[in-house]
Amino acid sequence: MEGALIARDRVGVQDFVLLDSHTSEAAFLDNLRKRYRENLIYTYIGTLLVSVNPYKELDFYSVKQMEIYQGVNFFELPPHIYAIADNAYRVMCAEYNNHFILISGESGAGKTEASKKILQYFAVTCPTTEQLQIVRDRLLLSNPVLEAFGNAKTLRNDNSSRFGKYMDIQFDFKGAPVGGHILSYLIEKSRVVHQNNGERNFHIFYQMLECGEDDLLRWLGLERNPQKYMYLIQGRCAKVSSINDKSDWKTVRKAFSVIDFTETDIEHLFGVIASVLHLGNIQYEEDSNGHAIITNGSQIKWISKLLGVHLSILQEALTHRKIEARSEEVLSPLNIDLAFCARDAAAKAIYGRTFTWLVNKINGSLANKDLTRKTVIGLLDIYGFEVFDTNSFEQFCINYCNEKLQQLLIEMTLKAEQEEYEMEGIEWEPIPYFNNKIICDLVEEKHKGIISILDEECLRPGEATDLSFLEKLEEKVGDHAHFLTRKLADQKTRKSIDWVDFRLLHYAGEVTYCVVGFLEKNNDLLYRNLKEVLCKSKNAIIKECFLPSELDNRRRPETVATQFKNSLASLIEILMSKEPSYIRCIKPNEGKEPGKFDDVLIRHQVKYLGLMEHLRVRRAGFAYRRKYELFLQRYKSLCPATWPHWHGPAADGVERLIKHIGYKPEEYKLGRTKIFIRFPRTLFATEDAFEY
Ligand code: ATP
Ligand code: MG
Repeated sequence: MEGALIARDRVGVQDFVLLDSHTSEAAFLDNLRKRYRENLIYTYIGTLLVSVNPYKELDFYSVKQMEIYQGVNFFELPPHIYAIADNAYRVMCAEYNNHFILISGESGAGKTEASKKILQYFAVTCPTTEQLQIVRDRLLLSNPVLEAFGNAKTLRNDNSSRFGKYMDIQFDFKGAPVGGHILSYLIEKSRVVHQNNGERNFHIFYQMLECGEDDLLRWLGLERNPQKYMYLIQGRCAKVSSINDKSDWKTVRKAFSVIDFTETDIEHLFGVIASVLHLGNIQYEEDSNGHAIITNGSQIKWISKLLGVHLSILQEALTHRKIEARSEEVLSPLNIDLAFCARDAAAKAIYGRTFTWLVNKINGSLANKDLTRKTVIGLLDIYGFEVFDTNSFEQFCINYCNEKLQQLLIEMTLKAEQEEYEMEGIEWEPIPYFNNKIICDLVEEKHKGIISILDEECLRPGEATDLSFLEKLEEKVGDHAHFLTRKLADQKTRKSIDWVDFRLLHYAGEVTYCVVGFLEKNNDLLYRNLKEVLCKSKNAIIKECFLPSELDNRRRPETVATQFKNSLASLIEILMSKEPSYIRCIKPNEGKEPGKFDDVLIRHQVKYLGLMEHLRVRRAGFAYRRKYELFLQRYKSLCPATWPHWHGPAADGVERLIKHIGYKPEEYKLGRTKIFIRFPRTLFATEDAFEY
C-alpha cells in the first residue's frame, strides 16, 4: 500500500531522543522491539538512522515512497533510509559541499541492502538527461558485477560482501549524477581456495557453471557440475535456495555490456575465472626423491591455453621454486606441501588482482572526464566487527578497520560536538564515552604497534615464525591494558587462551586471535617463477595485473597489513573532509528469520555500536546550529527590525529576530559565534514561516 509507512508509524517514538523515560538501555530496546514487531525497522537518534534487518520484503521502497520523501524536511515524515539520502542530497545542493554516508553493522545486518536503496533513491529522484541515463545505469549495474565477484554465501549471510567498498557518486551543479568512483578494500582471497562447511566460494564461479552458454564452457574446458571442482566443494553447499544464480548471471552479463566491457575483456575475464578452477584441480604426487610432480596433465594445458602462458614453464613454476644465490638462479624442487601452497598462492593472487582490475575497469566506465567542479556523496559499506570461534589475520584486519571507523565517529560526533559547546561557551555537562584511540594506537602506532611488530618479523625470513611474533608482542606490548596472552593472563583467564593466541580487548568486545598463518598472510608471497610466468601471460588482464617491475628484487613490496593501514588512513582522510551521515544496521537474530527479535544479540550490538552514548550526547545537545551571519541572512525577512538590513553585530540581530518570532528560552542557546537550536521542530516552524 502506497504511503503505508506514514499511516502506520504510530508505535513507540520515531526518534530515541524523544523517549520519555530516562535514557536506559531497557527503554531503548523496548522501543526498538515494539517498532520492529510492526515492521517499523527504522528509528532515528537525531539524524543518525538505526535500521533493524527485517529479513523480508517490505512495502515502503516504491518509487511513490521515494517521491514522498523527496525534498521534505527530515523529521516531518516517519524515519526512512530515503530521508537520510534526501537530506544529504539537499544539503549538498544547497551548500555545495561533499557528504558521506557511513553504513555500519555486523555481517548480515543489512549494510549492502541499505547502500543499494540509497543508490536507487538517487537514480530515481535526481534530475537527469538522456545523455546521463548511461551514467545512472552504470552506477546501478556496477553493484551486481562487484557482488558476483566479491560476495559469497557465509554462515552468517547468504550474500556476504567479502570486501570493503567506498563509492563516491559525483553530482554536477544541477544535482544530476554524472559519474562515480569506487575504492575497494581487502578482498578475502583465502576464500578462493578454502571455504568452511556451509559456505561457498564467490558467486561468479557457480553462476558461470550453472548458466554459462554451452559454447563458453566448452571453450573454457569446464564441466557444468560444480562438484567436479576442488575449490567449490569444500563447503558442501553449491546450491543455496535463497540465491538465484541464473538470474544473477543474466544481470551480470547485461551489466558487462552497459559498463563497456568488450567481448575480449569478457573472454579474458572468464578465462581467468576458469583458470582458477583448473588450478584447484591440479593434483600432486611425490616422486622417490620426495619432490612434487603433477599427476594430471589436462588442467595445466587448459590454464596454459586460457592464460596464454608457456606450458612447460608453468609446470615448472608449480613444482619448483627459484632462488637467487649470489646472482645465480637456482631451481629447487618443492615437496608436496609446498607445491600445494604454491598452487593456492597462485590462485589467490590471480583472483585477488583480477578483482582489483575489475574495480578499475568499472571506475573507467564511471569516470566523468568533464573538469567542472562536482560535489560528491560517498557511500561506505564496509565489513562489520567479526568474531568467530577461531579468528585469524583477516579478522584482525577487519576489526582494526572497525576500530578506525569508530574513532572517526567519535571524532566527528561525540568529541567534536562536545568541543564545539565548550568553544562556544555553551553550558554543558560532559558525557563520558569510551575513546578507542588507545586501541587504534596499539594496532597501528609506528615502531611500537602490532602491525609494525608483525612487519619486523616478516623481514626475518627463515628465522621468524608465528610464535616468535607472539613472543615479540608479549615483549613489546605485553603491558598494554587491551592486550593479553596466555602467559600474561591471570589464573582465571588463562584457560580460555591458547598458547598460540593473543587477545585484544576491542571497543566492541574481546577477540582472541590465533597467530598461526599471520606471517605468511602478511607477506602474501608468490614464488618468483610463478610471477615470471604470469608477467608473460597473453591474457590481457593477467598481463595488467602482474607487471615485470615486481620482479625487481630491490623493491620490497609493502606487507598486506601495512597496505591496509595506509589505505584506511587515506579513507579516513577522505571522510574527514566531508559532512557525515550515519546508518547503524542491526542484525535481529542469527537464523535470518523474519520478525524474530533476539534481545541478547541486539543488546550487544546496541552496546558496541555506541548507540546509548550517541543518544545521551544527542539528548543533552542541540539539533541544529548556524553561524549568526548565516542565520540572520536567511531569516531576516521575518522581523521588521532586521529587514532589509541589520546594522549592528549579527548576534544582536539574531537575538532581536528570535524574540520577534517567539522562540522560548528552553528552545535555544546563544553561543559566541553561533545560535544553537535544541529541537528540529523549532527550526521547521521558522522555515515554514519563511516560506509563506
Ligand atoms: P555483510 O557484512 O556480510 O556483507 P550486510 O550487512 O551487507 O552483510 P546484507 O547483505 O545487506 O548484509 O543483508 C543480508 C540479507 O538481509 C539480505 O540479503 C536480505 O535478504 C536481508 N535484508 C537486509 N536489509 C533488508 C531490507 N531493508 N529489507 C529486506 N531484506 C533485507
Ligand atoms: Mg554486505
